[in-house]
Amino acid sequence: MTTLYELLAGEDNHPALLAPGKPPVTYGQLRENVLKLAAQLNQFGFGRGDRIAIAMINGPELITAFLAAATAGTSAPLNPKYKQEEFAFYYEDTAAKALITSPEGIPAAIAAALPTMTLLTVEADAQGRCSLERAAGQARSATYAPKPVELSLEDDVAMILHTSGTTSRPKRVPLRHRNLFASAGNIRGTYSLSSADITLCVMPLFHIHGIVGSMLSTLSSGGTVVCPAGFNAMEFLSLFETYSPTWYSAVPTMHQMVLARLSKHADVVRKKPLRFIRSSSAPMPGVVRERLEELFQAPQLDSYGMTEASHQMASNPLPPRERKGGSVGIGFGVEVRIMDDVGNLLKPGEIGEVVVRGPNVVDGYENNPEANAAAYTNGWFRTGDQGVQDAEGYLSLTGRIKELINRGGEKVSPLEIDDVLLRHPAVAEALAFAVPHKMLGEEIHAAVVLKGECESAELRAHCAAALAEYKVPKKFHVLTEIPRGATGKLQRINMAKFLQVGSE
Ligand code: ATP
Ligand code: MG
Repeated sequence: MTTLYELLAGEDNHPALLAPGKPPVTYGQLRENVLKLAAQLNQFGFGRGDRIAIAMINGPELITAFLAAATAGTSAPLNPKYKQEEFAFYYEDTAAKALITSPEGIPAAIAAALPTMTLLTVEADAQGRCSLERAAGQARSATYAPKPVELSLEDDVAMILHTSGTTSRPKRVPLRHRNLFASAGNIRGTYSLSSADITLCVMPLFHIHGIVGSMLSTLSSGGTVVCPAGFNAMEFLSLFETYSPTWYSAVPTMHQMVLARLSKHADVVRKKPLRFIRSSSAPMPGVVRERLEELFQAPQLDSYGMTEASHQMASNPLPPRERKGGSVGIGFGVEVRIMDDVGNLLKPGEIGEVVVRGPNVVDGYENNPEANAAAYTNGWFRTGDQGVQDAEGYLSLTGRIKELINRGGEKVSPLEIDDVLLRHPAVAEALAFAVPHKMLGEEIHAAVVLKGECESAELRAHCAAALAEYKVPKKFHVLTEIPRGATGKLQRINMAKFLQVGSE
């Protein structure tokens, strides 16, 4: 059996979950809580195959509710910051039968609930014992009938998640227990995680990165998850001092915020050495990687993940194995190759679409035959990312296929331009993007957030010194903030529309 409940690997007395201001939860307590909540869900009438939405901020209660919902039925964790309309879309799309929140509730999530949904709340007592209650004021539904206790099996869908919607409308991904179990194991193996490890979980637990990259990988190694309510760069230092984490995983934007906040505290940070710093989900600019390693005196390991692969597909390995700057590393328990447009696997050095295969990769999108037909070729899953492997199998991503800029037939990877811009001392954030152009098809512009005085002419000269002329952005848009999607990703393909820059 390979279900999420069986994944919990720690000794009964070992701390599983820690959070500021909350009682520590041992593995023994966590197992008891998960089984109790799963049985309660059965009592409330939910069982295998039933989708249970969860809208909560990070914390031990969310993790417990998540594991219980996956043990009794299927978990559908949602971003608690969604607006009412967004909740309504996700409830309908997943056919949610219940919603779990904290007792304070999330007003938009509750207001959007379908009349057929049961509202539940989860609460922990002073000893960390959890229980579920019906939300106040909700009458018991007429069809209420307890389901027999029947724990999920490895082929059952443990969790429904949607992709981030960076390149199209979010796609619904059914992740089976065996997929998540395999992925957690791959991550554990990649970083040699053990019960001695403590991770600071700063990623939201409604996105695959936080759920598998931080939470399940750690729980499957018997280590400890520190789960504050969310990411807060101001709080990072005190969490660091209190809990002495051995590693943390985050998106590059968070790493940048950590750097900005902690660079004056190198003496404190270095007293508690991390084993490694993991980054995933978005391109890691070279300069951020260098500064992180300098500040923490620890290896920074970039990893490549996606929802459909239960998160990790590749990662740079721990020393003494080599980590290569600019590469997202090698597959661990996942086969990674490069494929051309017609399904041929390519050789090292040849650029094409990244394809993956392994027990962590889902069988297909739900009720989406078109997307499935496009996504699988000869048993390989097409990631939609473009990349190249070296002779040792290290993968470098050259961009998302949908985001590549086609300037009069010259294919330009916007990542290369972002990276050059970020090396300018006055640039805090940079995003190169395509703008429709009458003659060229697409022209290149860049949005920048500045942290110092700088004219466009200077940015242009800076780019021209490092890039071929055709790759130098024609125009620079200085913004106070670059808009992001719900999981913190830069929305490159929507930038031209957002800035209302049209055909020239
Ligand atoms: P959608 O599929 O709906 O357009 P999405 O692909 O952004 O959204 P996710 O599954 O959250 O949704 O993200 C996976 C993608 O994130 C990958 O396909 C890749 O483009 C990008 N990505 C992940 N890790 C890295 C990394 N280390 N470096 C660069 N890009 C990365
Ligand atoms: Mg995607």
